[in-house]
Amino acid sequence: MEYVKYDVVVVGAGPAGAMASKYAAKNGARTLLIEEHASIGSPVQCTGLISTPALNECEIGEGSFVLNKMKGAYVYAPDGTELAVNGKEVMAYVIDRKIFDRALVEKALDCGVDILMKTRFTSVVKNRVSVISNGERKEIQAGMVIGADGLQSAVCRSAGLSKCDKFLGGMQFEAPYAPNDPEYVEIFTGNDVAPGFFAWAVPFNGMARIGLAKNPGDKPASYYLEKLLLHPVVASRYQGSRTEHVVGGIPLGCPDKTVKDNVMLVGDAAGQVKPTSGGGIYMGAICAKIAGEVAAKAVRGEATVDEYEKRWRSAVGRELSVGMMIHKSLGKLNDENLNEFIAYLNQPEIRDVITEYGDMDHPSVLFRKLLGGSQKKQLIRLFGVAFRTLF
Ligand SMILES: Cc1cc2nc3c(=O)[nH]c(=O)nc-3n(C[C@H](O)[C@H](O)[C@H](O)COP(=O)(O)OP(=O)(O)OC[C@H]3O[C@@H](n4cnc5c(N)ncnc54)[C@H](O)[C@@H]3O)c2cc1C
Repeated sequence: MEYVKYDVVVVGAGPAGAMASKYAAKNGARTLLIEEHASIGSPVQCTGLISTPALNECEIGEGSFVLNKMKGAYVYAPDGTELAVNGKEVMAYVIDRKIFDRALVEKALDCGVDILMKTRFTSVVKNRVSVISNGERKEIQAGMVIGADGLQSAVCRSAGLSKCDKFLGGMQFEAPYAPNDPEYVEIFTGNDVAPGFFAWAVPFNGMARIGLAKNPGDKPASYYLEKLLLHPVVASRYQGSRTEHVVGGIPLGCPDKTVKDNVMLVGDAAGQVKPTSGGGIYMGAICAKIAGEVAAKAVRGEATVDEYEKRWRSAVGRELSVGMMIHKSLGKLNDENLNEFIAYLNQPEIRDVITEYGDMDHPSVLFRKLLGGSQKKQLIRLFGVAFRTLF
């Protein structure tokens, strides 16, 4: 057994782990980042659509990882009606996650973080972190441990913390695609293609990432992916062949506690994922910065893990819990209700409100605005009176 000593050990070199380790090092902690795979950002489990604020939050500017810039979205109702959501400027980027994740880790290394690849976390007991590094069992002494090890977090399990409320099943591939507008994301709704969530085609460079996420249970995601390819819009644009298959889960609904003793969870491990879109990079980056900073303070005795819990919940907790209520309400709609909801959104005055207040990171802002507007009755009828009290 070999003992190595660090102030902070961050488990998992995804976006949350990279940001948390960078902030721990920037705040003076001797920091180690460990990753079980041999290369960063692989395998990819992502569509790679991130908003402009999310990219800013990650502090790396527009790099070679940007594959496309998106200005809006077409949302398709189950009956085929198209709703065009027009952004005023670039709203989101399509990124190459492998290059993006590597760029984030490089920034962390520039700040003094040490990294150990092919090193799998197995358990934490007090200050002792057990890992299997290149096939060898090792122990590392850690003042603080940050679990940024994704939705199946071993750190969460080892610390005895609870899992998220639910896990959506996701599946996607890349293929040649001829979109109506290459700067528009396409969203498909309905119980035929994505029960409880939505399906998508995200275009870039003559290709698209075509996929879906769906409620757990029922039929597998592969069943719905085949149905999606038969959707009239997708069928007319999809040009055959499939590459870069992705299968993955999306954790929704944060557990009540994300800290215990000297352990903090961040990113997917803590369920810090937007329940309306399934995007986890933005919220994960915000919370990871707080985790890194608090971990560095905690090893100096200037903070406890509770500060992290309090600060991240005050930064994004309300948006996540309102997002979860919106997710649950939308998930209950049958196809007829979804047609009605999209027809409601398609009215010119409502479309103007969406253009003005639509924000993929903060959907609560738009819903609050709509529920304060003259056409709120239709919305309340669809979602129920209790929905109004959320905003
Ligand atoms: C189909 C699909 C599409 C998605 N599309 C989007 C999107 O368009 N935009 C968006 O923002 N989000 C999207 N997401 C979600 C996004 O991928 C995650 O929210 C994001 O990757 C979470 O980052 P993270 O750093 O918390 O975890 P991860 O990116 O999962 O990183 C965790 C890291 O920990 C490592 N690890 C795991 N266990 C151990 C261990 N025991 N020891 C050491 N290392 C370990 C893993 O190898 C990995 O590198 C999508 C997810 C899916 C499934």
